[in-house]
Amino acid sequence: MRKTYDVLIVGGGIVGLCVANQLQVKGITSNIAVLDKEFALGLHSSGRNSGVLHSGLYYKPGSLKAKVSVEGARRLREWVEERGLPINACGKVIVPQKIELDSQLDLLLNRAKSNSVEVELWDEQQLKELIPQARTSSGRAIWVPSTSVVKPITIIRRLQEELELKGIKILKERNCLNFDSDKRKLYFSEGDYLSYGHLINCAGLQADRVAHCFDVGRNYSLIPFKGLYWDLKRECDLKPVANLYPVPDLNMPFLGIHFTPSADSRPVVSIGPTATPALGRENYRGFQKFEPVLTAANLTLLARQYLLNRGGFRRYVNEQSLMVMQPFLLRAAQELIPNVRIDHIELSKKVGIRSQLFNHNTQSLEDDFLCLPGPSSTHVLNAISPAFTASFALADLIIEKIDLRLNDL
Ligand SMILES: Cc1cc2nc3c(=O)[nH]c(=O)nc-3n(C[C@H](O)[C@H](O)[C@H](O)COP(=O)(O)OP(=O)(O)OC[C@H]3O[C@@H](n4cnc5c(N)ncnc54)[C@H](O)[C@@H]3O)c2cc1C
Repeated sequence: MRKTYDVLIVGGGIVGLCVANQLQVKGITSNIAVLDKEFALGLHSSGRNSGVLHSGLYYKPGSLKAKVSVEGARRLREWVEERGLPINACGKVIVPQKIELDSQLDLLLNRAKSNSVEVELWDEQQLKELIPQARTSSGRAIWVPSTSVVKPITIIRRLQEELELKGIKILKERNCLNFDSDKRKLYFSEGDYLSYGHLINCAGLQADRVAHCFDVGRNYSLIPFKGLYWDLKRECDLKPVANLYPVPDLNMPFLGIHFTPSADSRPVVSIGPTATPALGRENYRGFQKFEPVLTAANLTLLARQYLLNRGGFRRYVNEQSLMVMQPFLLRAAQELIPNVRIDHIELSKKVGIRSQLFNHNTQSLEDDFLCLPGPSSTHVLNAISPAFTASFALADLIIEKIDLRLNDL
C-alpha cells in the first residue's frame, strides 16, 4: 500500500473518530485515514468505560477539561438521541461519604457555577425521595440533572459506520510505530507505507510511545491504572435509579467508586471502577500483556510519590488502590448505600485501563488533557476521563490547534 492522505489519525477510539468526523464536517478535508492496531475498534478505553456523560462540574475553571466537557456532553447527548441509541438521562447525586468531606460540596458548587453546570443543593429528604437506600454523612448532597449514561461501544460502532459512508478510510490491524517524520511517511514493512500531510496521534494508552517516535513529550510517560467493576446482582433490590457518586479527592484524577445504572432497559447497576496500578498498558486480566520493565519503573515512581506525599498521594493509596480487594470495595460502596452486602455484588466482566500520564518535570500525575505539536504532527496525550464525554468538543479544540498547518497542506 502506498497511498497519500491529507491527515492520518493513529487510533480509532472515540477521540480519533471524532477528530476525523470534525475534519470532514468543517470541510477541512475528507482525505483521511484512521488507523488502529486492533482487529476492531473500541477494544480499549473507548469501549471499556463507565459510559457516564459527565456534566463538567469537577474541573478546575480554565482547564481544558472544563472548557470542553459541558459543551461536549451536550453535543454527544444530542448525537446519541438523534440516532435513537441507548441513553439513560437519570442524573447524578454526589454525597459526602465522610462528614469531613462535607465542605467539599461547597467547592463543587462553586466549580459548577464557574463552569455553568446546573446543580442543586439537596437535603437528606430530597436525596431519599430519589434514592431511598442512599446515605449522606452530613445531610447534604448535590443533584446534577444533566448527567446521563450511554453505551460507549454502540457509539463507537455507529460513528465508524458513518465515517466509512463519508469515504473516510478506517484501516484495522495497522500498528503504527515506524515513522519517517521528515518524509511524512508511516511504514509497515519494506515498500508498504502511507504518506501524509499531517498526522494526529490519538493512540490512547500508547499515545506517549507514538509521541516519543516524533521526539515529542519526552518528559511524559504513562502510568496505567486499572478499573475493575462489580455489578449489583439481578436479585438485589437496592438498585439506585440515578448515578450515585462520593465526593472525590480533587487532587487525584479519579472520582472514587460509584453506582451507575445501565444505559438501556436492563436493570443492571455497576459499582466501580477501581483505580489500581496495572501491570501493563493493556493488562486487563491476570498476566496477559504484562510489562515488567514498565511496571517496575512505575511502581518506583509511585513509591516515591507515596514517600513525598505530593497532592495527598498517600490518601489515594490508602483509600483507592486497595479497592481491588472485595472487602475494601464493599466498605466504600457501603459509605454510599449502607445496606449493600457481599452477597449482593459480583465481579463484572468489564475492566478498563486509564491512560494516565506522569509528568517527570513536575513529578506529578497530569490532571488535564494535553495536546502537543510535533513535526507535521499533533499528539493528544492524557485523554483521560471525561474525554469520552467531551469527544466532539475536544476534537474541535485539537483541530483549532492545527488549523494553520492544515491550511498549508
Ligand atoms: C475504567 C474507565 C472508566 C471511564 N469512565 C468514563 C466515563 O464514565 N465518562 C467519560 O467521559 N470518560 C470515561 N473514561 C475515559 C474515556 O474512556 C477515555 O477518556 C476515552 O475513551 C479515550 O479515548 P481515546 O480515543 O483517546 O483512547 P482509546 O479508546 O484507548 O483509543 C485509542 C486507540 O488507539 C489504538 N492504538 C494504540 N496504539 C496504536 C498504534 N501504535 N497504532 C495503531 N493504533 C494504536 C488502540 O488500539 C485504540 O483503539 C473512562 C476510562 C476508563 C479506563
